[in-house]
Amino acid sequence: MNKSSLDTDVLVIGAGIIGLAVARAISLKGKSVILVEKNSSAGTEISSRNSEVIHAGLYYPSNSLKTKFCIEGKNRLYSYCKKYNIPFNNCGKLIVATSKNERNKLEEINQNAKKIGLNDVYFLTKKQLNNIEPELKCTEALFSGSSGIVDSHALIQSFVANLQNLNCTVAFNSNVSRIIPEKKSLLTEVIGNNESIQIRSLSVVNCGGLSSQIIARKTLGLDIKFIPMQYLAKGTYFTLNKKAPFNHLIYPVPEKQGLGIHFTLDLSGKAKFGPDLEWITKEDYTTDINQRKKFFDQIRKFWPEIKEEELVPDYAGIRPKISGPDEEASDFIIQFPKENKIAGLINLFGIESPGLTSCLSIASEISSRLNEVL
Ligand SMILES: Cc1cc2nc3c(=O)[nH]c(=O)nc-3n(C[C@H](O)[C@H](O)[C@H](O)COP(=O)(O)OP(=O)(O)OC[C@H]3O[C@@H](n4cnc5c(N)ncnc54)[C@H](O)[C@@H]3O)c2cc1C
Repeated sequence: MNKSSLDTDVLVIGAGIIGLAVARAISLKGKSVILVEKNSSAGTEISSRNSEVIHAGLYYPSNSLKTKFCIEGKNRLYSYCKKYNIPFNNCGKLIVATSKNERNKLEEINQNAKKIGLNDVYFLTKKQLNNIEPELKCTEALFSGSSGIVDSHALIQSFVANLQNLNCTVAFNSNVSRIIPEKKSLLTEVIGNNESIQIRSLSVVNCGGLSSQIIARKTLGLDIKFIPMQYLAKGTYFTLNKKAPFNHLIYPVPEKQGLGIHFTLDLSGKAKFGPDLEWITKEDYTTDINQRKKFFDQIRKFWPEIKEEELVPDYAGIRPKISGPDEEASDFIIQFPKENKIAGLINLFGIESPGLTSCLSIASEISSRLNEVL
């Protein structure tokens, strides 16, 4: 195996939507960046297996990073899409109660929206609902005006193209095997095609998604108490084999660790339902037609016209959770050296939804706090 070595200001690990946005934001500050990705192209893991929804930020506690980054990130993302011609649709979303006892939950979401300063969230009357979504059945619906959808694949490709014009080297097929803290830098060992590369940098940003904990455990001297437990929560999607019945995103009231099986559109107008929530112990992206009945039962609560055979298994994604099935949903973790006690090291953990919406604001936070690190 050939051996080589490189120097850079910052090494970013993982070319998912987060690593790409972080590498871009740091390069825009004039720092040299190397972005390493173990797969042969960008965004093939969590970032291409999600709902592609631009979230408004309705659901998360007011003082959480999820609220802060989602609201800020949504605005940045809409602007980015306009500037770089990324397909998006600010179509709005309806959260629906399908029984009287779900009404309180909708009111809670409405109150939370007001508290965090969202002024385009309100209840619709029966008449308004019937005008905009005649096929929808519900007892009550809350409208969110700033929710929308984005073509996540186009966004990923745009970030990659952006990086090529900046001071950033993107290396695919490059798997981080070890991070060794040195006196004033970090030495990262990367295994490429028949090649072992040592990259010396002032900072390493771990945006490894489902592998963030594995990468953190490969950092010599990092105390394991700073590495949160990881739980994998699979979400499967079914598509509809006919024209979409709705023009808005339709969500049920949220469940404990997820947003419930919802209706979304992609930019080509294809209707999809999901994701459900299944706790797993190993990465597994298979879909199962036997889950169709469960989807059918959930969907017909708000769309009675659906027929079970119209649902076709599509794809699955895995949420990188850091709280388990019986726990409250946790916040994003962005761990700087003052927390993890390793100079130059920034670890990201639990970047589940709304991570896609938040990518540009997470990137901005990291790039603007780099002076604490470099
Ligand atoms: C089912 C589902 C639905 C979702 N829906 C939405 C939504 O509608 N809206 C929203 O805002 N968010 C949504 N999300 C969340 C969003 O998709 C994620 O927050 C985001 O994609 C995470 O991106 P990432 O870059 O952290 O992870 P990833 O995209 O997984 O990127 C991590 C990268 O690190 C690489 N890597 C790992 N280990 C190594 C190594 N040793 N060396 C080099 N590279 C390595 C991986 O190969 C991977 O490419 C959803 C997530 C899921 C699972």
